[in-house]
Amino acid sequence: MTKIVVIGGSAAGPKAAARARRLDENAEITIIQKSPDLSMASCRDFS
Ligand SMILES: Cc1cc2nc3c(=O)[nH]c(=O)nc-3n(C[C@H](O)[C@H](O)[C@H](O)COP(=O)(O)OP(=O)(O)OC[C@H]3O[C@@H](n4cnc5c(N)ncnc54)[C@H](O)[C@@H]3O)c2cc1C
Repeated sequence: MTKIVVIGGSAAGPKAAARARRLDENAEITIIQKSPDLSMASCRDFS
């Protein structure tokens, strides 16, 4: 089984993980994200 670790869970990381899943449905894919939010890009002002 292929093991894939993606560092960063904002925009590119989850995109890469999703692509890896489509390429290999059996791969073990782990996203490591520093901040508490996943897939939260910096586009919007949250203030
Ligand atoms: C103010 C602002 C407004 C923007 N507005 C727009 C817009 O309107 N439209 C648009 O298309 N783009 C916009 N952008 C750009 C868009 O937000 C970025 O292009 C996009 O977020 C890049 O995504 P990324 O995944 O490549 O990198 P990042 O968003 O930088 O994600 C990297 C992730 O990796 C995590 N990380 C870093 N180091 C580690 C580590 N050692 N271990 C674990 N996790 C780690 C970080 O916590 C972060 O979540 C804006 C950016 C800013 C700052």
